[in-house]
Amino acid sequence: MALTQWQTGGRKVVVSHKPEAITISFTEQELVSYDLAGRYLGSYDHGTNIRRGLDNTYQQRWRVVDGRKYHPRQRVLSEQEAEEHVEDMRIRVRDLLKDKAAVDSHPATAAVLERIWEYSFRKLMASAGTFTRLYGHIPILPPDQYRALVVQMTDGCTYNKCTFCTLYRDKIFRVRTLEDFRRHVSEVLEFIGEGLSYRTSLFLGDANAIAVRTARLLELVEILNGFPVLQPLVKKGGMHAFLDIYTGNKKSVDELRLLKEQGLRRVSLGIESGSAALLEFVHKPGSRADVIDVVRNLKAAGLSVVTIFMVGLGGHDFRAQHLSDSVSLAQELSLSRGDIVYLSHFSPGTNAPYLPIASEAGVRAMTADEIDAETRRWKQVLGEVFGGTGVKVAPYSFQRFIY
Ligand code: SF4
Repeated sequence: MALTQWQTGGRKVVVSHKPEAITISFTEQELVSYDLAGRYLGSYDHGTNIRRGLDNTYQQRWRVVDGRKYHPRQRVLSEQEAEEHVEDMRIRVRDLLKDKAAVDSHPATAAVLERIWEYSFRKLMASAGTFTRLYGHIPILPPDQYRALVVQMTDGCTYNKCTFCTLYRDKIFRVRTLEDFRRHVSEVLEFIGEGLSYRTSLFLGDANAIAVRTARLLELVEILNGFPVLQPLVKKGGMHAFLDIYTGNKKSVDELRLLKEQGLRRVSLGIESGSAALLEFVHKPGSRADVIDVVRNLKAAGLSVVTIFMVGLGGHDFRAQHLSDSVSLAQELSLSRGDIVYLSHFSPGTNAPYLPIASEAGVRAMTADEIDAETRRWKQVLGEVFGGTGVKVAPYSFQRFIY
């Protein structure tokens, strides 16, 4: 890492040029980061963060203090707000390039600053158009994979009927042909350019890539392994993917071992709940026994596991059963160091079938604050279950996801 001081307007600015990104600290409370291609990544300004998604969405995040509690808040910036912010930062970067002594002393850093200056808001918008053509949209990743490079072996979800989920409703599930996948990966690499160094692993999209039959999956993975530029990512962070329970039990330990040998490291399971009644209510297939089988096979193959439970699903009516059945299920999964239990904050899209169904059934929804409180309860109980095991228990809100 190169940490250098630059002069602008009589002030010193610290530029940190790391292998994965560049961060410019105008003051201790005001900094901005870019990938090495020059794309804006995000900024921090006196307690407020802004993050940019590759689709050129800008999410602003801050926390509201209420006594001893902190409430996270977020909103999406309007295009005009985003443009003003990005251009303001860009002009400040351009001013750094007037420090000729620093430019001459640090040519590699200066080259990245030049790229940042070239990446105007209009150019970022054009880049977002390419992103959308390549991916459509990426509605969710497990939080440990927010910095993964996503490659879409499949499109959409094999099932698409859970009533609370609208993430892939606009997509018809398909598995890419080998030729199409090779072209997709080439185009993704061309798009991401030097920004690849910011990525920490590979995520095999979309919702259920591991459901693809093993022979085809291995052919697709072989294509990935044929790109030498991706090998550092595979070695460093490995390959990751979602798997839905009702399809996962079709893969044997030997098949999963083959995938592990090719780079698969961790599989994320959207379990949502240990309560059979709640799963039935939200039309999510797969039983408790299926979950136990799938996790046993994954662990026997030497893979790590992410389990995701959805706190607040089923509202007050299912609250107690949801917690106790989910905790008892988690206890049966023989999770160990390297595994993660995520507690996802339930927030259905406005067009989710869950809403009218729950309303008709008289289910009393939990407010966002009640779900936060319930999440703290889950975290405490699961923290006691997994204390000292190396299993991480962490809440997250998919509303804060931005890729
Ligand atoms: S929750 Fe998972 S299985 Fe259900 S519709 Fe959404 S992506 Fe598909």
